[in-house]
Amino acid sequence: MNRASAPRIAVFGSVNMDLVAYVDVAPASGETVQGREFRQIPGGKGANQAVAAARAGAEVAFLGAVGDDAFGVQLRTTLVDHGIEVSGLRTVAGTSGVAHIVVEGDGANSIIVVPGANGTVTALREGDIQLLDGVRALLLQLETPMSGVVAAARAGRSLGATTVLTPAPARPLPPELLECVDVILPNQHEAAAITGQDDPERALAALLETVPEAVVTLGADGVLYGRRGADPVRVPAVRVEPVDTTGAGDTFCGAFAVARAEGRDPETALRFAAKAAALSVRRHGASTSMPTRAEIDAF
Ligand code: ATP
Repeated sequence: MNRASAPRIAVFGSVNMDLVAYVDVAPASGETVQGREFRQIPGGKGANQAVAAARAGAEVAFLGAVGDDAFGVQLRTTLVDHGIEVSGLRTVAGTSGVAHIVVEGDGANSIIVVPGANGTVTALREGDIQLLDGVRALLLQLETPMSGVVAAARAGRSLGATTVLTPAPARPLPPELLECVDVILPNQHEAAAITGQDDPERALAALLETVPEAVVTLGADGVLYGRRGADPVRVPAVRVEPVDTTGAGDTFCGAFAVARAEGRDPETALRFAAKAAALSVRRHGASTSMPTRAEIDAF
């Protein structure tokens, strides 16, 4: 895509170093198992969505924080290498966010996130409003403190951006946040935790009582999409052999936001995102597995 015509997107959120162990079966409590392989991969839901959106063809600005440690330097460099604008990424005293990820033989994953610097992003800071001015979409997640997420959502809404919230990790969503969210995009577990409804269709209906549009992702079963006042739509996943599903949701979200910011209708945007996410599950890692625009268009 020609950068001059690329839509502008901002991501407000977390950036972590992912420390990934590949094992046959994850250890139970009290158990020690031997891993097959270890990788250190830049991640965090915010940074992952930023990379996904940049690779899918947007001009992206990232707002967040890293620590003044070696991981912080590496994380900033990675975002810069993806062409992401990082004037909104602050370096603060202390450690960067870290995620310990276990990937099992079948591609399933479990994750512990230690927030570090992400915990300092409690409000908008000087210069953030200028970065948000003129963006078509603002992507938000819940790996940074709620007060900051609410401030960003309010600013994004008042500046005319489409605000897209990935409510992960799931936690109660205050009304002052929900009133500034245009699209909520949980996976089925987050949707169930937030609404108390295990059935995705019921969860979708409950979400639509709080925000105008909702997308519940269902892993290999695709997504359920709803808009207030319209019938829900199911968009299937693209069939692939999964290698590592880490970051599938963030890839989906980043690509979906790009397609929406380019003016595509919701279903076209969901199909574009499903292709991007399917490509990502065929490769290892989160940010390292995200497809480029050319790869998505060719798939
Ligand atoms: P993660 O936490 O692993 O990043 P998630 O739980 O947030 O992912 P999922 O619902 O697992 O999100 O997946 C998001 C989207 O990715 C799905 O809607 C689908 O389009 C795609 N996807 C996930 N798993 C597969 C798979 N095995 N095959 C094809 N597409 C997949």
